Amino acid sequence: MAANQFSASPVVVSQKPHHNGHEILYNFSLCNAAALQEEWSFTQDYQAPCQTSPTSWKFRVTLKRAPKTLLVSGSAKLKRNDSLNVAVGVFLQLRINHHMFKDYFPFPGVNKEILSGEEICVNICKIVPNSFYEYLLYQELSVCVSIYVKNCH
Ligand SMILES: [Zn+2]
Repeated sequence: MAANQFSASPVVVSQKPHHNGHEILYNFSLCNAAALQEEWSFTQDYQAPCQTSPTSWKFRVTLKRAPKTLLVSGSAKLKRNDSLNVAVGVFLQLRINHHMFKDYFPFPGVNKEILSGEEICVNICKIVPNSFYEYLLYQELSVCVSIYVKNCH
């Protein structure tokens, strides 16, 4: 693929057990988001490996670039789609970093009690919030998504 095109790396998936829950992490990178031509999305299904309440989830990030600008924005959505009649807690955090600017682009994490069928949505108004740093959109940005399902056992 030509260097001046947008590309996304394959995702690296890792899981962390916690005493009160289950965390899954998706790491991938976006190269040259400034060249994004059409809407791009990333989707993953997650089944929490829980003995008591094996909830299932669909996660989706969608990004698009406003025409003729470097404004790249979108949303991250997490929907619970099992049919268990129990509320569980979930903490969703999305981080977008440049290797020179760790944690420079913070998005608030969402911490919520969720029932089956409910959805969390995080607005990503700009992946690089400060226009002074727009040149980073021509470089590689790393994305880390953490989904932490808790109080399920
Ligand atoms: Zn559990």
